[in-house]
Parts: sequence; C-alpha cells; structure tokens
Amino acid sequence: MKWLIKGGRVIDPSQNLDAELDILIENDVIKALEKNISADDVEIIDAKGKIVTPGLIDVHVHLREPGFEYKETIESGLMAAVAGGFTAVCCMANTNPVNDNQEVTRYLLKKASEYHLARLYPIGAVSKGLKGEEMAPIGELKEAGVVALSDDGNPILNSGFLRRALEYAKYFNLPIISHAEDKNLAPYGVMNEGKIATRLGLPAIPAEAEEIMIFRDIKLAELTNWHIHIAHVSTAGGVKLIKEAKEKGIKVTAETCPHYFTLTEEAVKDYNTNAKVSPPLRTEVDVEAIKQGLKDGTIDIIATDHAPHHPLEKEVPFEEAPSGIIGLETALPISLKLIEAGILSWSELVTKMSYLPAKIFNLPGGTLKPGSPADITIIDPESKYRIDVNAFFSKARNCPFNGWEAKGKVIITIVDGKIVYNLTHKFL
Ligand SMILES: [Zn+2]
Repeated sequence: MKWLIKGGRVIDPSQNLDAELDILIENDVIKALEKNISADDVEIIDAKGKIVTPGLIDVHVHLREPGFEYKETIESGLMAAVAGGFTAVCCMANTNPVNDNQEVTRYLLKKASEYHLARLYPIGAVSKGLKGEEMAPIGELKEAGVVALSDDGNPILNSGFLRRALEYAKYFNLPIISHAEDKNLAPYGVMNEGKIATRLGLPAIPAEAEEIMIFRDIKLAELTNWHIHIAHVSTAGGVKLIKEAKEKGIKVTAETCPHYFTLTEEAVKDYNTNAKVSPPLRTEVDVEAIKQGLKDGTIDIIATDHAPHHPLEKEVPFEEAPSGIIGLETALPISLKLIEAGILSWSELVTKMSYLPAKIFNLPGGTLKPGSPADITIIDPESKYRIDVNAFFSKARNCPFNGWEAKGKVIITIVDGKIVYNLTHKFL
C-alpha cells in the first residue's frame, strides 16, 4: 500500500523541520518528504490543518504481562499506546516472571509482533528478581533484544552493586534506568512529606529520598563513565542536581511524566488513590522546577510511567492502594498544555516525546527522514474534548485527569507504513 499524507504541518526536530509538506510512504518506509508531491496509485490522507510528527515513543511503560493480565495485557497496552499516538513503547521488567532472562524477553517480543500495533522494546532487569542482590545475565538479555536495564519499581539501594552493574552494562552498551528513591528514608511513605500529609495523617516521603539517590546515581555515572537515565524526576532538587551533572559532562539523562508537571500533592487531599504514584506528587515549587527543567533541556524526555492497576485494587484505603497512574492515552493532551502555556514549542515537545527517546535509547524512529521506517503520528491540534477514562483502550482506569478539558487529539497513528489507529474507525 502506498500512502500520501498531504498538506500537514510537519514537525521533525531531527531535521529541524517545521513546514507544510507532503509525505509519501511506500513499502513501509518514508519515500519522500517534500512540498506538493504528486504520485499515482496512492491512498491520500488529507492532513490540512493537522500536525504530522515522527511517531511518539514512550520509554517507560508497565504492560503487566506476563503475570498480571487482569491489570493490562500486551495487547490492551499496545492498543492504548497507538490510541495515544505512540508508535513504540519500552516496557519495564517488573512482570511475573520478571524480565531477567531471555525467555521472558523473547515472549514479550513475540507477543507484541502478533498484534501489529505499537512496536515494543523490552527493558531487562538489572538484578535477578529485581532484588538488587545478584546481577541478571545482561549479555544474554541484550542478545534477546532488551534496549536498557532497570529494576524500576524497586530502587537499587546497594551502591557497590549499582557500580558493578554500570560497568557491566557499559560493556554491553546498555543504559541503566534508575528509580531514584532511598526507601530507607521513608519505608512506609505513601505521599509527599509536608503540611498536607500531616493534615491527612499519612506517612510521607521527603523530597530528599529522591534527591539523595539522584546524587548517588550521578556520582556512580561519573565514576564508571557510563550512562544512567533518571526515571520520573519529581523534585526541584533532582532537576538541579541533573542540570549540574550535565554541565560537568557526566553521562546522565532524565525523564519526567505529565503528572509531575501538572499536579501537586493537593491532588491526593481527598485520599484520591488515582493520584497515588511513586515517586509521589510534590509541591508547586517542584512542578515549576520540572517545567523549567523541560524548557531548558535538563529533562530530556516526557515518558508516562503508564502503571495500570485493576479498579478494585485502587478502591481501598489510601495507604493500602498500589502506586501508579496510567498515561498512554492522556500523555499527549496533558503535555500539549505546555505548548498552550508557552513553556514548550511544538518542536521542543516532539523532541521530548519522539526524537530524544529514540536517540537516547538507540531505537529506530524519532525521524521522518526519507528511508526511515514509516512511524508517524497525525494530531488535530484544535480538537476540544473531555478526557473520559471509560473510553480508554487500556484495561485500567487509574487516571487523575478524568473529566479534564483537553485540546489536541491523535487522529491517525501509522506504524511500519500501516494505519494502526484511526480516530474515526478506531483500529484498522
Ligand atoms: Zn515505572
């Protein structure tokens, strides 16, 4: 099938492009990207008034399969991904069994390939069973296809262990993604430490739990001269540490999630378990620092940390509820609010949601250069609607943005030259 995407505003930071151009897709690849292309035997996609970007890439999702299919499956997660405009996602290793061996990695890749939705890139565990004690077989995981290593969900508390893991990961050219949290500082914490936690009577987590570990991670990245990627940065202090480390040339990159630049700890004041997340939602000062970090490039990537749970698991007292917010179907509309607020330009947003995720994790995509795989997201920037969790393709509903006004909607997602999601027809 040949497709011609006509007249859209093409935004491709990999080529410094923001212009009205046509895109010709042939044999799964981008054949041409020019003004006014005419071609025979093509299906035309009219993109007038729409934004056309390289497919969005989410480097941090939890797909729950194998082991927790009642929360999400690879299929439902990948449907949510393409409905949210993502053409590729990286999935964390905290499944059951854990992705600490080739069998699980191969299972994930095989399953994902059956659905023809978004591309799936597995992240392998750093340690066996995510226990932080014995190293996972990193070479074997790499051979099976993992793109990075992380014990996400669990911090790696032992500095000596993380140092050895970084040295080993360097040999295999795999970044380590750090869930930066000193659990010893707040073993029972369920929300941010401060006045609201005191008022609610909930055990709390100070910002220092994140900052201490980011500092430690940066020092170990410097010591080993290897790449550490800080997941879900939530604190002003964390942003400052990462900025200083980058200025020194240390190999550190960082991501944050839409909830950390949109919500504060106020969101949990009615014991709203759908806003319970790890790390916890912080203060207005932190939210402002995260926005500034996105603007000045300290925070490279917007990722979702899509963490589905069954509704019944969240319908329990706040302290007992599992942490996590789903994000695949709200990441774009919530992130677009940064453009509306004048914090990011379109090009900067696409840099953080497509170009840098591909570049930092060595993934195909993130570009519309002719010859590249045809992974494309088409967005209607003017479409206004209300976010409705009941319309989500994810199995989960743990989303604090339900009912929010949104502007900007994904209308078509193309993976490997095929339309895998179309707003009017849903899935094709
Ligand atoms: Zn996570």
